Amino acid sequence: MSTPAIEVWGLRREFRASQGLFAPPRRVVAVDDVSFSVPAGSVLGVVGESGCGKTTLARMILGLLEPSGGEVLVDGKRLVGMDRLARARLIQPVFQDPFSSLNPRRRVRDIIAMPLVAQGNVTTSEIGRRVAESLERVGLSTEQGTRFPSQLSGGQRQRVAIARALVLRPRIVVCDEPTSALDVSVQAQILNLLAELRRDLGLTYIFISHNLAVVEHVASEVAVMYLGRIVEKRESEALFRDPRHPYTRALLGSVLTPEPGLGVPDVGLGDIMPDPANIPPGCRFHPRCPACFAPCAATGPRITSLEDGLVECHLAG
Ligand code: SF4
Repeated sequence: MSTPAIEVWGLRREFRASQGLFAPPRRVVAVDDVSFSVPAGSVLGVVGESGCGKTTLARMILGLLEPSGGEVLVDGKRLVGMDRLARARLIQPVFQDPFSSLNPRRRVRDIIAMPLVAQGNVTTSEIGRRVAESLERVGLSTEQGTRFPSQLSGGQRQRVAIARALVLRPRIVVCDEPTSALDVSVQAQILNLLAELRRDLGLTYIFISHNLAVVEHVASEVAVMYLGRIVEKRESEALFRDPRHPYTRALLGSVLTPEPGLGVPDVGLGDIMPDPANIPPGCRFHPRCPACFAPCAATGPRITSLEDGLVECHLAG
């Protein structure tokens, strides 16, 4: 296995949630002691229900949210506390909704140039050259570079967002539901483009999606999150063929919504919804787990290493 491009160690994020004027704020643990590494050039898919902590995890990795604890390293360099511009050269985002993430008053070529301009030490001719290169890489023409986002289709706008992410030639791209806001017919084009760019540029992706079919298609490894923790992380093929955690099995058995962006609607686990402000004792999944047995409510399971990954369940051994 090649050297990790990104390593995450013990990452944690707590929030204080207000309960009104007369009650003390509640402590919410959105991400709890998450660790993983991703080899250079591969794709880690991150899946889980809405509110499982996957977007909070992405925002901490991108430096948009300060962790309460833990470390993120890219090529061995610590990202937590790193200067914003230096971090932007290593890691870039592609978000779900390309329309809201692009400034409607700027032309496409200026939007793509922004990260380079912000660096402050790149010449105008170099900026022009790199913007043209990025446009070409994502399949947009020079003429499309002169348009405003509103003059492009949804798929073309997502190509602009990808070109902007690539213009600094980062090592890692964090894709947070990058195809969820797109028509089904356009989703495949964007997924193929991301795969092509990864091959050509040696990029490493962290790919967050509620769409398991998409994750199965793109990811080399998959991390399943439940109430802020990774409960199973396996090679993609093995996880989809033989899920080991009861929650992963429920997730794979769920019916996906045709509406993009709604999250996984029904994992067939009853009415008890996971609440990050009220994490159950023992195994946090035990109130919903169809395989729950005596020790689960009292004792949290340890992480068990498997040949192709890890799983956090008393039954895994
Ligand atoms: Fe279910 Fe127990 Fe495993 Fe938790 S530890 S997932 S409750 S069987």
